[in-house]
Amino acid sequence: MTTMPLSNLPVGTPANPLRVAIIGSGPSGFYAADHLQKQPDLVVDIDMFDRLPTPFGLVRGGVAPDHPKIKSVTKVYDKIAQHQHFRFFGHVEYGTDLVYADLARHYHAIIFAVGAQTDRRMDIPGEDLPSSHPATEFVAWYNAHPDYPDYEFDLTAENVAVIGLGNVAMDVIRILASTPEELAETDIADYALEALRHSRVKNIYVLGRRGPAQSAFTNPEIKELGELHAANVIVAPGEVTLDPHSQAFIDSGADKVAAKNVEVLKVYAARGDNGKPRKIIMRFLVSPTEIIGTDKVEAIKVVKNELQPDDKGNLKARATGEYETIPVGLVFRSVGYQGVALPGVPFNEKSAVIPNDRGRVLTDTPAGAPVIGNYVAGWIKRGPTGVIGTNKPDSVETVEMLLEDLQAGLLLDPSEPDRASIEDLLNRQHIRYVTYQHWLTLDRIEQERGVNRGAPRLKFSRVDEMLDAIADHKITAVSEAMPGD
Ligand code: NAP
Repeated sequence: MTTMPLSNLPVGTPANPLRVAIIGSGPSGFYAADHLQKQPDLVVDIDMFDRLPTPFGLVRGGVAPDHPKIKSVTKVYDKIAQHQHFRFFGHVEYGTDLVYADLARHYHAIIFAVGAQTDRRMDIPGEDLPSSHPATEFVAWYNAHPDYPDYEFDLTAENVAVIGLGNVAMDVIRILASTPEELAETDIADYALEALRHSRVKNIYVLGRRGPAQSAFTNPEIKELGELHAANVIVAPGEVTLDPHSQAFIDSGADKVAAKNVEVLKVYAARGDNGKPRKIIMRFLVSPTEIIGTDKVEAIKVVKNELQPDDKGNLKARATGEYETIPVGLVFRSVGYQGVALPGVPFNEKSAVIPNDRGRVLTDTPAGAPVIGNYVAGWIKRGPTGVIGTNKPDSVETVEMLLEDLQAGLLLDPSEPDRASIEDLLNRQHIRYVTYQHWLTLDRIEQERGVNRGAPRLKFSRVDEMLDAIADHKITAVSEAMPGD
């Protein structure tokens, strides 16, 4: 620990680098690091923390296993991590291993980029019955997220409902409808592949509360459903007959993605049933009102909707009073992710984000005063919307605010700004943190483990396994000693 009076020197110089902590190692955290690194004439020390030993957030734990191209974005993050002024501290949880006061003691600025860690609730009876799950749990399970390997999903059910028309719903449907051979070539968790081999799922009901023109999925995702080996998309012609409001919206040409979605769905309707063993049955204008069952899900009750424009002209679902019950044994609620409050950081319960102005954290008060040195990026800043690339401009905006505040002298004034002091702190607490070098070792081992299955990698799904693998490979592959060893 240094006692040099660094705070007297200009911040961002070789003698007194700008010290930034980024909490979360998903896309928004990496894009924030990238923009900081791109600043000419500014020396920035970046320490990125993640509660998991592995980096990349939803790129690793959310993107579907059969979408390897999307995951290749991690090559960009690898380059960012190679920067000499960048360090990764995996397996360090903000709020327990590291608290706000620790960060304020070591950094000039903190960027919270923790994503949205839970699911949105529907608040309908039966939502919490066994075999009714948030889609986010299924996604984390098949992606080997270490919080989920012991979760169980009743894949003996022949009829399944997936609620919601977003891209997460599309991912879940594809995984349920793919053959084991299709899945084996992906980096799906080994236990999930095994469970899905024994799946008896036949009919997947996709329930959208609004119409085809209001679907939240994007064109490639709806097209992919029609290209599966053993599943067919079933759309009754009446389901894609648009109401006058939706037809006018599509005809206006204002939303090309929506127009293409409708076109693809009409092709499916015209194609009919081609006899493939699994069926993806698209249902529009239905809202679940109850998940029925005693010990487990037995059916889902839906009310039929019609669309009505609100004050702003947005088409909203309105219940007609006509009900239908669909027998299903398993439900996935794919109605969106939701942000979770962090200790010591303002949070707005209603919008489930950290209140902010273009990335500057504000107090959760009507006037919203800036919280000095605190920034936010990604889903915890704007809510769970957009694709991976959306995070780039979002993080650039945040970093621009931080740089403005640096110019104005409006950052934190850390009492222990030297690089070694954070390692000292973690070591004193016996936290076995994982460096980027360690991660690269894990990455190589996972890829080697995948060879036998013909998969790009076989992921570790337990933190202990990861830490053991790092310790075992220390002598040959990692020159740095594990702290706490
Ligand atoms: P999303 O895109 O916000 O979709 C949520 C869906 O749930 C919408 O269809 C919404 O309908 C519906 N919904 C919400 N509340 C409901 C309720 N109470 N009852 C019935 N339906 C309800 O969320 P997501 O699918 O979780 O995706 C999150 C983000 O990640 C999106 O931006 C998505 O594009 C992105 N993502 C991208 C990919 C990819 O690029 N391949 C993959 C996965 C996720 P309304 O429209 O009527 O509200």
